[in-house]
Amino acid sequence: MVKLLKERDVQVTPQRLAIFERLVIRKDHPSAEMIYSELTHEFPSLTLVTVYNTLQKLSSSGLCCKVNPLHSSARYDGNTTAHMHLICSTCEKVLDLHDVPFSIELPDWVAGEFQVANHMVAFFGLCRQCQISAAAGSTEGINPASRTA
Ligand SMILES: [Zn+2]
Ligand SMILES: [Zn+2]
Repeated sequence: MVKLLKERDVQVTPQRLAIFERLVIRKDHPSAEMIYSELTHEFPSLTLVTVYNTLQKLSSSGLCCKVNPLHSSARYDGNTTAHMHLICSTCEKVLDLHDVPFSIELPDWVAGEFQVANHMVAFFGLCRQCQISAAAGSTEGINPASRTA
């Protein structure tokens, strides 16, 4: 990991290394706040700004990806291999979707106007837990006894 950081010209500090490690270990696409609260015991001098800046630096160096800028706070993905995301619009959970063939043919005019470097595919909807909560919420107020008559 130290080697990876050095290769991308990211100055290595124990805090930066710990942030990078956390990000790669966690598979839930954490936000800066999530990583900060996890490391604050280990590094009492760590600030949220340092976590933000480090994640920003890692992402501009190609060592992680920013997921879903629609979230109120950016979420980061330590997995930089191509994969898609399933994003819950209620709880903002981000699930990985691997090994799904996906190809899209862009219209010819794009080549003249825009050089595509990368792409991101995300599906928005409800995770299982939020589906259950939504279903429970929608039947609230209905008296089951009155329906069996
Ligand atoms: Zn959800
Ligand atoms: Zn991911």
